[in-house]
Amino acid sequence: MSVVCQSCGACCAYFRVDFSLYELDTEGGPVPASLAVEVNGNTCRMRGTDHVPMRCAALSGQLGKQVGCGIYEWRPSPCREFQQGSDACNRARARHGLPALGDERLY
Ligand code: SF4
Ligand code: SF4
Repeated sequence: MSVVCQSCGACCAYFRVDFSLYELDTEGGPVPASLAVEVNGNTCRMRGTDHVPMRCAALSGQLGKQVGCGIYEWRPSPCREFQQGSDACNRARARHGLPALGDERLY
């Protein structure tokens, strides 16, 4: 995670994180199946990302202060593709009272 993301975590507590069942470790992929729930025969979801309040079960720490992804190396594709500084990033940050970022890419 970038330094900015390590003191944020807003996207991990704002979006449903759905991905292909084939990304699960039980199917030969990287994502620990114990942290996901099946949505249908093709799709699963990171546990906690459809709860209220929403928060991915893999996220540790205090949002907006110091956070970490417990499965960073094994996170699903939506997390890998998510871009810091994007409109979606800033929507998540705004929802959690954090200021918008510019277009920096600090990965
Ligand atoms: S909302 Fe943006 S800055 Fe915050 S953790 Fe996600 S990508 Fe990083
Ligand atoms: S798997 Fe990691 S990066 Fe993805 S939503 Fe959960 S805590 Fe965030």
